Amino acid sequence: MKKNIGFIALIFCLLLMVTSNQISYAQTEVKTEDEASVSSKPELNYTEMNALIDKVVFQKLSGVIKFLKKCLLIVWSLFLKCPPLVRNIIAISFFPAYFGIISSHVIGIYQNRNRWERHPYYDLMYSYFVKSGTLQRKESYKDAHSLLRDHKWSWVSFAGLAHRLGNYDNKSIMLIFAMSFGYIPLFILGFIEMVFRISLGTVWLLFFNLLHGLLLLITKFISFALIPVANIIDKIIRKTQYCPHCYETFYLPKFICPSCGKIHEQLLPGRCGVLFVRCACNKVFLPCASFTGRSFLDSRCPSCSGELYAANAKHFSVAVIGGNNAGKTAFIAALSNLYKSMIKHKRFLTIEIKPDNYFNELHDVYHSGKNAADNESRAYSIIHEYWKMKTDNLVLYDTLAKYIISDSYPRSPKYFRFCNGIILMIDPLSVQHVQKELKDEIGMETRYDFSDDTNQMVVQFIHQYNTICGFSTGVMSSIPVAVIINKVDIEIVKREIGGDVIKTLYNENPAAYNNNENNAKDQICREYLAKIGLINVLNNIEAIFTNVSFFPVSAAGHVPKEGKAFAPIGVVEPVAWIAKKGRSRIAGLLSSGVKYINNEVIL
Ligand SMILES: [Zn+2]
Ligand SMILES: [Zn+2]
Repeated sequence: MKKNIGFIALIFCLLLMVTSNQISYAQTEVKTEDEASVSSKPELNYTEMNALIDKVVFQKLSGVIKFLKKCLLIVWSLFLKCPPLVRNIIAISFFPAYFGIISSHVIGIYQNRNRWERHPYYDLMYSYFVKSGTLQRKESYKDAHSLLRDHKWSWVSFAGLAHRLGNYDNKSIMLIFAMSFGYIPLFILGFIEMVFRISLGTVWLLFFNLLHGLLLLITKFISFALIPVANIIDKIIRKTQYCPHCYETFYLPKFICPSCGKIHEQLLPGRCGVLFVRCACNKVFLPCASFTGRSFLDSRCPSCSGELYAANAKHFSVAVIGGNNAGKTAFIAALSNLYKSMIKHKRFLTIEIKPDNYFNELHDVYHSGKNAADNESRAYSIIHEYWKMKTDNLVLYDTLAKYIISDSYPRSPKYFRFCNGIILMIDPLSVQHVQKELKDEIGMETRYDFSDDTNQMVVQFIHQYNTICGFSTGVMSSIPVAVIINKVDIEIVKREIGGDVIKTLYNENPAAYNNNENNAKDQICREYLAKIGLINVLNNIEAIFTNVSFFPVSAAGHVPKEGKAFAPIGVVEPVAWIAKKGRSRIAGLLSSGVKYINNEVIL
């Protein structure tokens, strides 16, 4: 090794001396010419500057090349002066030596391709361009040098064959004796080959090591320059996220490595990578920016570690509020199933509904007509995917009535803070005289369940909403509130606010409703609520919410009966209205869905 270093040092000293001599000579030339020119022309123009650069840089380089050529010619002439046998031995030894150099270099790099330097704080490796590349370079050239000097490993080598032959053991003395004749020429060729391999290979590896180091230095600077740019783009693109479990708001979820399951809390562009980072398990690269596909990884809430369904998708959240038996779950079941059938004919768009078990239940409720029990507060995510990219997440929060009626529960609906809209369900059967009217009409054996007192529920909801959102008394909210009058399929409700009744009233005098059928729907519903004695509900809602509209709806479309599938009426309209008011990207989709359902499926 010391001999090799001495040899390289000698070559370098020679090169340096020649180069410096050439450069100083050129400088003297330039100086003399410059001095002459300065006296006549004090300023250099572009052509002169160009000529000067050409003289100082390129002509010097050509001087070095000329010197190298000269050295090569000397070596070549020495080679030609050798006797033919020596010449042939040198020529034959040169090729396996060259092969040995190349293969040592390639094997050295290949053996160290998976060496990465681990970050001390994150479960990630440093980027190749920042630190790991330097480690790989050092180790690969160290290994390449060892291979270069090791004569034993290569099969395409006289030295390697001589080593194998020298160590060959056989019981037959005759065979060993015969083989010893082959060993001597192999040993001589192998010795010359190793001289070539070590001397030329050391220069070769040194040159590429320096080149590799230089390239890494350049890419390191580029990486450092790109980190803030990538972070800014990532910040612009990523969306605010809301946890469906603990209702926390955040920007960056935790992401899970698909290979080892490690949870990464800071998967951002940085020293571990600008676009992709290598996990500490050293098996996979993970996208670390929103524009390189980070959202495709499984994600968790940074606060409660609950599963998130669409990292980086834009959330559009709607809280569904109502008393017990108001039909909240039935409404969500009808909406999700209709929405699924609406999307079927859309090209490039698919929807994924999460969590699976909740939606399996809803599917069951919708098709079997079974009564849906409200046992827990739930968040249903309808994830929209364009070209497999999760773009929008419509989240429906099914709020348990007891969480509204009492504020002593720990799981208070904190999502009120970030909801884009509210669906407030009113059950007309919660009003006693409507119940009586129904009993008088169809007898005692009605299968409809009655909801809690609507007045109390609305008052409690407003109180909860104000508390959670931090509104003081008298402050109004502009959040869109769609008030749903459910169970419009019941005859006594249908003859007041049914679709046909609204259409007839509107057609009789469109001007009274500003020539807008939706206004007619809204106004007739309001009048109906006042008529059945829920004027206080109306007043309370309008005292705090400025953006309110009323809708007649029936989630089941008929008297609940097991085995009879839902035939929903008007369930998409309230969500479409909220989406339009909230300027959501899915507003157009919902509106076209309403038209699709009204024209082709139900009516
Ligand atoms: Zn991993
Ligand atoms: Zn959470």
